[in-house]
Amino acid sequence: MLSLGKAHPMSLRLVEVPGGPAIVLTDTALSTMYRYRQLSARAKEAGGQLFARFVGADTIVFEATAPSILDKRSRQGFKPNRRLQQIEIWQRHKDGLHFIGDWHTHPEELPHPSGTDITDMSDCYRLSSHNLRAFVMVIIGTQLGCRGVYAALINHTGMTPLTIEETIVIE
Ligand SMILES: [Zn+2]
Repeated sequence: MLSLGKAHPMSLRLVEVPGGPAIVLTDTALSTMYRYRQLSARAKEAGGQLFARFVGADTIVFEATAPSILDKRSRQGFKPNRRLQQIEIWQRHKDGLHFIGDWHTHPEELPHPSGTDITDMSDCYRLSSHNLRAFVMVIIGTQLGCRGVYAALINHTGMTPLTIEETIVIE
């Protein structure tokens, strides 16, 4: 288990079943999300979208977008500007990057999804047009290392938590 005082660049390999297809959060994507950890008492929630390439059976998340000034952010809430997000999706698509889900921060060490997190994402899955089996939800807590990252798959039937199969620390 990693217990890191400072952020070492790392990638996380997330799976639904051991040895199965993985969702990989690259160090680039993680470092963007880590920048918005809610470390101070007044820090607001932040969030963005996850963009990936499909490599074999795996989904490699190369980019996590940063929040925009049009998002609604509070201590315990994050409502992205969906119009702006749709533009991001079209732009990335031209570069072969596919929207696969969202990320946001929580002001807690070990993050867990709220009921609203799950219903919002499930509604979003149901109401938007896509070919995905599920959306990925990533929540970033205040603790560094893999314990501070929560990830799950969400679709119309509900939520399946992902487990971290491997942490790849980049020296
Ligand atoms: Zn949340």
